[in-house]
Amino acid sequence: MPGAAWRPIPVNHTRGGQQSVHGVVVHIMDGSYGGTDSWFRNPDAEASAHFGTSRAGALCQWVDTADRAWAQAGGNRTWLSVENEGRGGDTLTDAQLDRCAAVLAWAHTTHSVPLQIAGSPSGRGLGHHAMGGSAWGGHTSCPGPRVVAQLPEIVRRAQKLTGKPAPGKPAPYTPPTFPPGLGPNKAKPSARPLQRALKAAGYLPKSVQESDNYGPATQAAVARFHNAHPQYRAKGKPYDPAIGPHGWAHLFRLAHGR
Ligand SMILES: [Zn+2]
Repeated sequence: MPGAAWRPIPVNHTRGGQQSVHGVVVHIMDGSYGGTDSWFRNPDAEASAHFGTSRAGALCQWVDTADRAWAQAGGNRTWLSVENEGRGGDTLTDAQLDRCAAVLAWAHTTHSVPLQIAGSPSGRGLGHHAMGGSAWGGHTSCPGPRVVAQLPEIVRRAQKLTGKPAPGKPAPYTPPTFPPGLGPNKAKPSARPLQRALKAAGYLPKSVQESDNYGPATQAAVARFHNAHPQYRAKGKPYDPAIGPHGWAHLFRLAHGR
């Protein structure tokens, strides 16, 4: 993987043994980065992982992703693995979250791993060791609840890296800045963005011609919007032809189907 220091280990993995990639499994070393690197080179360890991170933010790759690392027993054939420096009960550092996100983003583009949480071995995405239960060696404390709570943040960062939102979730949304002072008899700023939104949301007939001026048709359309959403109408008024920032934000969401 580009961006990872290639530190191949001669032992403790199965060449060509990676059948498919369902996702990336997060581990905690319960030890140091350097110590784990040495341990994975020791034939007695009979353990390894594809990737490793240090608390300071180093990222290395020990095993090619075409090969099977020995990280989570029954989950080895179909899952990649990333070991993270730290003790059980630790949280991952900010730099480690970034490195894990980089691994997940790379697994997404290279192995089509979906950018989501995998809660069990039958899922796909970002998993953690304990989810495999006894079939995965029964490591119930790896990587620990505090790291498990960080998994959604890793997914979010991976989405940011790839520029892709999670499936089924809308893209991050911010309504445009409210044109200040938009009300009847005020030609500035132009009323056109408001008229467009009112049309798209069904409060202003499409046949009404757009204009910079905040005319009677626009006022009537705003009043119709307020009738449907009275919480945005000026307090105590049965009729409010002007639209405020919150009403505008809501109308804009409606207009764009959010
Ligand atoms: Zn583990």
